[in-house]
Amino acid sequence: MLEIISRVLGPVSTNCYLIADPDSGEAAVIDPAWDGQIILAEAQKRGWKIGQLWYTHAHFDHFGGAAEIAKAPNPLPMVALHPLDHDLWQLKGGAPLFGMHIDPGPEPTVELAHGQILRLGNIEFEVLHTPGHTPGHVVYYCPKETVLFSGDLIFQGGVGRTDLPGGDWEALVESIRKLVYTLPEDTRILSGHGEETTVGEEKCNNPFVRA
Ligand SMILES: [Zn+2]
Ligand SMILES: [Zn+2]
Repeated sequence: MLEIISRVLGPVSTNCYLIADPDSGEAAVIDPAWDGQIILAEAQKRGWKIGQLWYTHAHFDHFGGAAEIAKAPNPLPMVALHPLDHDLWQLKGGAPLFGMHIDPGPEPTVELAHGQILRLGNIEFEVLHTPGHTPGHVVYYCPKETVLFSGDLIFQGGVGRTDLPGGDWEALVESIRKLVYTLPEDTRILSGHGEETTVGEEKCNNPFVRA
């Protein structure tokens, strides 16, 4: 059974998810938003080892804590990002645009592709490429646990902004309709900002993208 610890971190209140297979102690961080120490402490407290950092996309508020995690006496975690967001990663996720300074941490080593399977112990996650908020945005879907980590694609009652460089409204709408609204309605959505929701709730109530 997947364990999920969530923390709201950083200057724009980003949700960071520390997830683990408690049987093996293998852990991953989906969007190590900020304050790597806090994330590390949560893992250490439980005896988990953070072996993987999975980015939904390369905005600075989703990986600003990566450098601190990578400096810890862990093996260097593998860093997974879709290649279409690599340019944005090299620009430090747009941090200078917002007057922020970040240490981007280790270079991404795993080039994500649509349909790729990632493993945490015995638990499998499917990578879905969902462009719109950024060109290389992905979401992580775990069918066994009926949970979707949706990054800045969709929020409770909202969607990711498309006015930043690389944003594309049409693509965002298509990503949500084709890849989120087709999942089982009871799928939990854990997004990059704000409260938890479900696929069914958003299909009924999301004012931006109708089912
Ligand atoms: Zn973003
Ligand atoms: Zn964000």
